Amino acid sequence: MDGGVFMRGINHAVNHLWENLFPEEKELQALFTCAIFYVSRGKERVRWTTFSVGSKEQTVELEEKGFRLEKTFTLWNGTPCVIGGCVPKEDTQKDRLITFLTAIFPAVSYYFSFPNEGNTNKYTDLLMEVTKKFHVSMRAGTVLKKMIDALKEVYPTSEVMLYLAQEWDVQKDLPEVPITYGMALENEAVQEVYLTARIHVENSRKGWSILYIPLRGQQGVYGVLQLSLPHHHVYHPIAEDFIKTLADMGGKALENRELYKSSRTLVKDLQLINETSHMLNSKLKVEETARNLEHQIKKFIPYGKTIFLMLEEDNNIRPLTDNFYENKELQDLAATVFNQFHQKTEAFIFSDIKASPCFQMEDYQSIMAVPMMQSREIIGTVIVLGEEKEAFTFHQFRLLQSLIEHSTLAFINASLQEKLELMVITDQLTQLYSRHYLDEKIRDSLQKDIQGTFLLLDIDNFKQVNDTHGHQVGDEILIQVANIIRSNIRSGDVAARWGGEELAVYLPRADLHAGKKVAWRIVENIARETNPPVTISGGVTTWKHGDHVSVDLLVLRADEALYEAKKRGKNQVVDAGVLTEAKSVDDFSKENDLSRGRDIHNR
Ligand code: GH3
Ligand code: MG
Ligand code: MG
Repeated sequence: MDGGVFMRGINHAVNHLWENLFPEEKELQALFTCAIFYVSRGKERVRWTTFSVGSKEQTVELEEKGFRLEKTFTLWNGTPCVIGGCVPKEDTQKDRLITFLTAIFPAVSYYFSFPNEGNTNKYTDLLMEVTKKFHVSMRAGTVLKKMIDALKEVYPTSEVMLYLAQEWDVQKDLPEVPITYGMALENEAVQEVYLTARIHVENSRKGWSILYIPLRGQQGVYGVLQLSLPHHHVYHPIAEDFIKTLADMGGKALENRELYKSSRTLVKDLQLINETSHMLNSKLKVEETARNLEHQIKKFIPYGKTIFLMLEEDNNIRPLTDNFYENKELQDLAATVFNQFHQKTEAFIFSDIKASPCFQMEDYQSIMAVPMMQSREIIGTVIVLGEEKEAFTFHQFRLLQSLIEHSTLAFINASLQEKLELMVITDQLTQLYSRHYLDEKIRDSLQKDIQGTFLLLDIDNFKQVNDTHGHQVGDEILIQVANIIRSNIRSGDVAARWGGEELAVYLPRADLHAGKKVAWRIVENIARETNPPVTISGGVTTWKHGDHVSVDLLVLRADEALYEAKKRGKNQVVDAGVLTEAKSVDDFSKENDLSRGRDIHNR
């Protein structure tokens, strides 16, 4: 047969088959945004159908760059052929093409295996009926029902039984068919067919043959169809082929259902992980990172209580979850979990923690814990607790693990960022805050508080200390002074190194009286506690709501007071008085004759 004749024959057959399979082409168009299907032999090709591909160039582009799937079959005369399809590369279209071609393939290859191209026989018609169900419905039950109906039509007196590997939800589509789940151990024939994926025939019962036919998919056997026929039924190779093809359709329907289900969960999981990574990529604080991740975890574990714990350098636990320190149970839990991780750094899940001696929790019965790792070091953990026993599925556990794995870097970044920020705002010698940070804090307080007090402190005769004991000892004294200041203020107060041997303290919401008290306490303690002993002088100034003060003005006034303290003999505190009038720095400078050349910024 020359190529032209051959292809014309195929063309005719293809058209006929297509019209039979898909009388309602619209249905199929709904499945694919864009697709090309063809049958080919070598380089010759018959376009089967094309959906929504616009211009010629777009067709070429889809054929060259799209996703392609091909399946090989053999013509009645032994010629190898291919049926194939191209769709755009998106995941959903790919998945559909795989499902679709796999589904129609048995019918198509069966159709071409008879010499009577175009003249469909009864078997082919029935196969097509079943195949149609494939694309109309993803339901395995519908396909299995069509399969059994087709068998009943060819063998009206036959009896059908199904053995299914799993409890697929198909019984309601097949009310009349007895279904056994699991591969009945007592039935050796079923076992064998399930394992070998080959038809087995028994002529055991009087006048009857029993056929055991595997329900095969691409990836395995999903069950066994038991078909009992009276002997007198003519049973020949074409029929056997037909039964096998039919049964394979049932197998593929079950397989598709499984693949579809798992591919859908996989896609959903990937979307969640991807979305989370994006969300955490932006510059976030450690606490915000935890809050965002908790939000993502809630999407697939709505009923769990999530706890985030970071492990700091000295093995201190830093909770990112509220109320951690009020809850003794949680603290014990954290210790236990980190203990487990120190023995074995592997995520774990317990479905019944009451049965485990390690955990003592009143309100929770299930736990999952995933370590956060940075180059084999544990840097934290995420714990999810459930009130019920067996509150979590293995899938949730796996997804939690992936999510934490993908988010750990965000936690590391956020905590590095935190450290960096702290470094920038910390003076390295004294570990007090930097002047810049103090400035900001005062500015904040001027906006939101009703009053506040500022102290400027300067070590007396420090040049002489350096000259006498050396710069090194000078540094040590600076550290001693800083520590004394720190231990004489409250946690909301801010102490900073203002520059050189000058230090400053801001006391938000404190009035002048309180400020002076603190300043004097510092001055006295420094004189008493430093070694070698030094003294310090201080200037105090305060502001109240309604005063139009700026940071500069406060500093200027404190500096004035400090200058006064030095003048009066050092080792003392002078206050600049309460600012009540609106004044600019310029006015203040003029009034106080700042022409003496003391430039506070350049000292
Ligand atoms: P006064 O009582 O008037 O403040 O006298 P003083 O000697 O403390 O003031 P002066 O401004 O003349 O000298 C300040 C000295 O502080 C000079 C400088 O070497 C020293 N100093 C500034 N920063 C540091 C530091 O970080 N370490 C050490 N060891 N000395 C410092
Ligand atoms: Mg000094
Ligand atoms: Mg000084």
